[in-house]
Amino acid sequence: MATSSTTRTIEDEYYARFAGSAALYSRSRQAIAGGISHDSRHLEPFPPYIERAIGARKWDVDGHELIDYAMGHGALILGHAHPEVTHAATSAAQHGTHFGAGHLDEVRWAEQVQRLIPSAELVRFTSSGTEATMMALRLAAIHTDRPRFIRFVGHFHGWHEGAAGGHTPPLEVPAPGLPDSVRSRVELVPAEAGAVEEALKRDPTIGAIIVEPSGGSYGAAPLPVGFLSALRTLADRYAAVLIFDEVVTGFRWSPGGIQALCGITPDLTTLAKILAGGFPGGAVAGRAEIMHHLEFRADTSWNTSRKMYHPGTFNANPMVAAAGSTCLEIVASGEVQKIATSRAELLRSLLRETVSKLDAPCLVYGESSIVHILPGIKTVSEIADVPVATLKGTGAPGVLRMLRLALLQEGVDFFGRSAFVSATHSEEDIRYTAAAFGRAVARVQAEGRWSVQQI
Ligand code: PLP
Repeated sequence: MATSSTTRTIEDEYYARFAGSAALYSRSRQAIAGGISHDSRHLEPFPPYIERAIGARKWDVDGHELIDYAMGHGALILGHAHPEVTHAATSAAQHGTHFGAGHLDEVRWAEQVQRLIPSAELVRFTSSGTEATMMALRLAAIHTDRPRFIRFVGHFHGWHEGAAGGHTPPLEVPAPGLPDSVRSRVELVPAEAGAVEEALKRDPTIGAIIVEPSGGSYGAAPLPVGFLSALRTLADRYAAVLIFDEVVTGFRWSPGGIQALCGITPDLTTLAKILAGGFPGGAVAGRAEIMHHLEFRADTSWNTSRKMYHPGTFNANPMVAAAGSTCLEIVASGEVQKIATSRAELLRSLLRETVSKLDAPCLVYGESSIVHILPGIKTVSEIADVPVATLKGTGAPGVLRMLRLALLQEGVDFFGRSAFVSATHSEEDIRYTAAAFGRAVARVQAEGRWSVQQI
């Protein structure tokens, strides 16, 4: 990996060395609305365009080799193009990608989820995490006959209407384009047991609580101690359905997700990402009594008024089911998670040393195999006491963007402010990343752009 020259500004050098990406982005903007297909891929002046990837590495159109920390937005704990998962998917594809019918791999895949996830009495597949949270909320509403639900400020559950707004700063600004009837379905509250109880007491039409059990954005905004067990108690007391959104944490925090680690079992769990081995897929896994609202019965009134309608052309298609069940087979023992977590721990500790040596205030934190950074933020309080709006932000204005541009020039794609570490990141990759981070920080400081915010 080439290191940077210091003769040009970070941004000028990015333009010069990533010219192929610049050209593709400008072409893309003429064809793709906004030029990108996922908002978190937005980067000024342009994002990198990638040609291929394997293990912990990806290569861009200008030939740079990058250590990747986007890792399929968290789907790739096994790294890119894992040989067994790739083999399973390509062999399945050769036998047909859609049977318009059930098949063995979807059954095996569901059985694996049942074995690993404590709440999974029954499973139903979707094509994404967004669809999974949408399904869980609808199932809860049908089951309880109470359509409103509690969602937490700073927690992300995908982009359907019930999940829009309140997760990314500015947190208080409602998402545009939603009818009042949809907005009023959501009770957006801070992650405090008192606020949850007050809402449940005040409004008997609230039938569900959905939470990222890691805290908002896979632990970027951690939860107060004891919060999950308080939620379990309150959900039971008010007969509400407790939904853990384990789209990111499922199979990552442990083979059974956060719920297996903390021993608190939700009524429904939403899954995606690692579930499908890097392919598009999701699932709801939960209590049979609630999941039964997906089944047909010999009862017209049930089928028309108590059953949830659920189609979805690509749900559990043979290629995704083969990739997903192969991935779950590999992650089931917990070894993969141990390796990824130990690499992330090393990265967290080396990054902390680096920023402290350079006197460059930056929060470095995170759990499991995820590393969060908030460049330019200096705090005197515990992370848990920092306001959610700060923790869900990008740090001091402009610093994160400059850092990412400088890191790309070092051969590291530290994606946004959170890095997903996989089991294929070697100790050497992590040490290289920390050293590259130091050089990138020093360049941002030298350009006078490392502004600092005291919290
Ligand atoms: N829930 C959480 C916690 C997520 O992080 C995400 C995506 O990042 C989703 C739901 C939505 O999943 P998808 O992008 O598969 O629709």
